[in-house]
Amino acid sequence: MKVPFVDLRAQHEGLRSEIEAATAAVIERGDFILGEAVERFEAEYAEYLGVAHAVGAGNGLDALSLALRAHDIGPGDEVIAPANTFIATVLAIMATGARPSLVDVDPETYNITAAAVAAAVGPRTRAVMPVHLFGQPCDMAGIMAEAVRHNLLVIEDAAQAHGARYKGRRAGSIGDAAGFSFYPSKNLGACGDGGIAVTNDAQVARKMRLLGNYGQREKYYHAIAGVNTRLDTIQAAVLRIKLRRLDDWNAARRAHAAVYDSLLRGIVRTPAVSPDVEHIYHLYVIETDVRDTLRQVLQENGVASGIHYPVPVHLQDACAGLGYRHGDFPVTEAAAARMLSLPMFAELTTAQIQHVSEVLARTVGAAV
Ligand SMILES: *Cc1c(COP(=O)(O)O)cnc(C)c1O
Repeated sequence: MKVPFVDLRAQHEGLRSEIEAATAAVIERGDFILGEAVERFEAEYAEYLGVAHAVGAGNGLDALSLALRAHDIGPGDEVIAPANTFIATVLAIMATGARPSLVDVDPETYNITAAAVAAAVGPRTRAVMPVHLFGQPCDMAGIMAEAVRHNLLVIEDAAQAHGARYKGRRAGSIGDAAGFSFYPSKNLGACGDGGIAVTNDAQVARKMRLLGNYGQREKYYHAIAGVNTRLDTIQAAVLRIKLRRLDDWNAARRAHAAVYDSLLRGIVRTPAVSPDVEHIYHLYVIETDVRDTLRQVLQENGVASGIHYPVPVHLQDACAGLGYRHGDFPVTEAAAARMLSLPMFAELTTAQIQHVSEVLARTVGAAV
């Protein structure tokens, strides 16, 4: 049996005619840049999250840096972020000219903790970027309390957490602003690149919009030195269709995770979920001493898997200038050697989950 890691083809099968009609309508209108579907999707996504404003961007990285820059974060500032994340979190900070101040994560959830934030605050710290890693929201009550105590902005990296909830509130709706990615394999993915920045602050939203569209208030009149990062109208048209399915897809992922949990408990370390959250399993990540063996045997049995992430951000060549070393973040470094992401997508079947779990059980049994 073949089990892909994600299956975008399966997702699009049921949506094909709707997507084709919507993209054809954009081509017919010709409003490719900042067209009608962008405005509509921004309003629909803001309503879905329960925030006042959403501003499309070209990708998740840009959405995050727009959110930071709209709060005037830049050279001379420091922004606290977890070492255990996709590099875009850190690159978004670096893109503003600010310095990322990295911290280690909780060994259970792999997320940044309020205690780590408190310990990292210095005189130049302006903001913290909690990353809701793998689709599990961070301890936002604890982080918001530290932010109030130390006068920090909270910019959520919600690129893996579309629709996840923390104490009933959507990830991305709790801090001062948030950035989402619509990279195709995210829980809400476009047919190409896309992103969005969200906030409840009208002035911040105006600034994000201005920054992302050449700093122009009116065509050819440039108020500030902006960039060009806009959500394509065709992508917005696709995302409007998919947003209507997001809650069902997330529910399917949660059901698949429950099956994995029941079949894998006692065999490998299954994901630890905080009682305050609704995890939407962008990734289903197990931990094991025999990660590389498991990955190999899974592959021999037709099962694709992933490692998120093999080299922590602080040990990437691209971040050498930040001055971190091996041993700085032991939890993150240990996790990088032990974590394995199993196939996870809404259309996954129970038979496929059983196959993956059987291969794992057999292999772990043989390894001990
Ligand atoms: C995907 C992702 C991003 C960046 O999104 P892109 O659309 O690829 O630029 C940022 N942060 C995290 C945690 C991500 O997983």
